[in-house]
Amino acid sequence: MEFNLENIVRKNIWNLKPYSSARSEFDLYGSDKNELTLLDANENPKGDLNRYPDPLQSSIKEELAKQKDISPNQIFVGNGSDEAIDLLYRIFCEPGKDTVITCPPTYGMYEVSAAINDVSVLKVPLNDRFELNVDEILEEISACADIKLLWICSPNNPTGNVLLKADLKHDWQAQNYTRGGMMDMPFAPEFEAEMLENQRQLDRLFGSFNGIIVVDEAYQDFTENMSFIKRLEDYPNLVVLQTMSKAHGMAGARVGFAFSSPEIIELFNRTKPPYNVNELSQKAVLEALQNEEKTKNEIEEIINNRDFLMEHLNSFNFIKEVYPSEANFVLAKVENATQVYNYLRDKGIIIRNRSSQIEDTLRFTVGTMMECKAVITALREIKEN
Ligand SMILES: *Cc1c(COP(=O)(O)O)cnc(C)c1O
Repeated sequence: MEFNLENIVRKNIWNLKPYSSARSEFDLYGSDKNELTLLDANENPKGDLNRYPDPLQSSIKEELAKQKDISPNQIFVGNGSDEAIDLLYRIFCEPGKDTVITCPPTYGMYEVSAAINDVSVLKVPLNDRFELNVDEILEEISACADIKLLWICSPNNPTGNVLLKADLKHDWQAQNYTRGGMMDMPFAPEFEAEMLENQRQLDRLFGSFNGIIVVDEAYQDFTENMSFIKRLEDYPNLVVLQTMSKAHGMAGARVGFAFSSPEIIELFNRTKPPYNVNELSQKAVLEALQNEEKTKNEIEEIINNRDFLMEHLNSFNFIKEVYPSEANFVLAKVENATQVYNYLRDKGIIIRNRSSQIEDTLRFTVGTMMECKAVITALREIKEN
């Protein structure tokens, strides 16, 4: 099937003449503000934050484009990835008519944002090993023409596993390389078959859908699997989400990204509020992005702490299962989960009770080593009680 963008964009958005702000009519980017007499935006001439911020966040996009090896016009910068999630509904989904697919248990905002935009949600649950049910997704897609978005969170929140792999060959090489091997080791024949099967599955999924597949990579920094950003060239109906909130430690700044084709990013730009990311956050994010070394070290530390936490959680007999994680949290199946949750809460340790989504499960965010040890110590006391 040939993907046709115009056919799936809401008519009002396709025809929208966007608001033209002072800063979009006269783009300051690249010029020295102090050399210009700026009398076009009804700003106060004095103050530290007196000027409107860059509506297109050019400095951030330039830096990110370098890091991700894509073009700046393939990047949308939002007020958290939650803004990108909402915009996807507003661009593609007709309220009261269209449908999206989610694969629960997964991130709650896809459903909340659907409800806010009066869009229906069709759920194709993960199987009991928390894997995507690709055949059923394809059946639903072929049975209903009003499905506009497919939400795939990978690594998935709250299960922690990768749901869709962008390129098995790359992942295998990267893992081999990490263990001290050569990047271009030859493949075992059975691996070749697995790689081809993965590719066939991706082609089936992306190729049979005249809608958008959103891969939410909020936890991408904690996995060795390749990002779907590398597949944007291959799939015109792919949108990848990432965020500054997790690995980059900037949840308070509210900055998230969407990566896609220039055509789809243009739709984001015309639909978003003109000055959607404030000046303070733009500055802070640019600085954080330029400090790659710090982020890399922090990610390493979190992964190290995650291993510690998982190993120790596994040692309790009332913890029935600790699920593998490629994120900065760990999901565990726990006997009397709600009691354990309450016990920890009363000790001032707040984790997330996910039992309403998956029976008897608790989700532990990976904190500092001291915080991980505090959790383990508190859990030991339960055992002794
Ligand atoms: C935390 C999280 C986000 C991040 O949202 P922001 O609005 O960027 O803070 C996005 N998706 C998932 C699945 C998350 O868990």
